Amino acid sequence: MPVIYLDNAATTPLDPAVREAMEPYLTDQYGNPSSTHQMGRAARRAIERAREQVGEAIDADPAEIVFTSGGTESDNAAIMGAAVANRKKGRHIVTTSIEHHAVLHTCEFLEKIGFSVTYVPPGENGIVSSEEVRKAIRPDTTVVSVMHVNNETGAIQPIEEIADICREQEILFHTDAVQAVGLLPIRLKQTKIDLLSLSAHKLHGPKGVGVLYVRRGIAWTPILHGGSQERKKRAGTENVSGIVGLGAAMERTMQQQTEHYKQIVTLRNRMLAVLTEELDDLQINSPEESVPSILSLSFPNVSAETLLMNLDMEGIAASSGSACTSGSLQPSHVLMAMKRDENCVKSVIRFSFSNQNTVAEVETAARKTAAIVNRLRRK
Ligand SMILES: *Cc1c(COP(=O)(O)O)cnc(C)c1O
Repeated sequence: MPVIYLDNAATTPLDPAVREAMEPYLTDQYGNPSSTHQMGRAARRAIERAREQVGEAIDADPAEIVFTSGGTESDNAAIMGAAVANRKKGRHIVTTSIEHHAVLHTCEFLEKIGFSVTYVPPGENGIVSSEEVRKAIRPDTTVVSVMHVNNETGAIQPIEEIADICREQEILFHTDAVQAVGLLPIRLKQTKIDLLSLSAHKLHGPKGVGVLYVRRGIAWTPILHGGSQERKKRAGTENVSGIVGLGAAMERTMQQQTEHYKQIVTLRNRMLAVLTEELDDLQINSPEESVPSILSLSFPNVSAETLLMNLDMEGIAASSGSACTSGSLQPSHVLMAMKRDENCVKSVIRFSFSNQNTVAEVETAARKTAAIVNRLRRK
């Protein structure tokens, strides 16, 4: 049975053109970019080309791009690197209670080693107010981290306002933009964002490779030590094929951004239209200001776990929130922070779309979901 894949916030299928760009670096072109011979130089050139592609895509200087092993490492490196570099100035960090665990658990680790952290809660719509962030800032605050787009609800956070506040107060600002790239324009030179995380596998690139943007001249220190790769900002032999794939994926996504956005809006609207037609009780957790790729819905009086299992049996891949917690089915920290009631939290399903989904797929998935929900409710 072909799977209808509506879990694109967990990961996306590799774009065949990206795979093709990677191929030589998985076969003949296996040189180490630090080697000075021909093969090494070829690998080095491939990495530098990818760095330019990324720089172009997010309007940053190629020298400000650091390749990492993915979104998780970028988040860790951004926050730890900023906190450690500024530890003499202060040891307080501001973040939000709806961040990805890559940010939350990094902050919790920093608390264990002597830093203090304020977790700003969102409003009931899942959006954090920049004024609340401003209020959380103290004289000893050195770094603020707020995600661009929430991975469970799709809620878009006011990161440019927050970046402005941070710059005024001479505090570093980091944003996890993993769920934003490819849908929302990111023009770093026009913002006051200091650090930004990206991941290739969320935009039809390969897994295990990402970017940390580090604005030139900021007080930030690397967390991985070893060789002098990535201008001494991230030691370790580069993931050459992955980096080439990331560059290609970034270039392609950016070229197709406007078109994909429209396409995904159509998919999301169709899904919602069919579901609202066929179901009496449906709660939408994604706010108005959200990316169309993520649709968080609650089906009161139905267990998300049971619903997901039934969807899986019908060949529909969805999720009950973030991939990292869905295995354990812990109640979503994001919905809890939004003060949703227990019934809503326990019945949440996240459908997430990419341009590779079709309207027909989405209609089938919506009809099947409605049928399962109605059946489970009758029991
Ligand atoms: C997926 C995701 C990450 C983690 O990225 P990996 O490349 O899988 O480590 C971090 N933040 C957000 C918002 C994500 O959606």
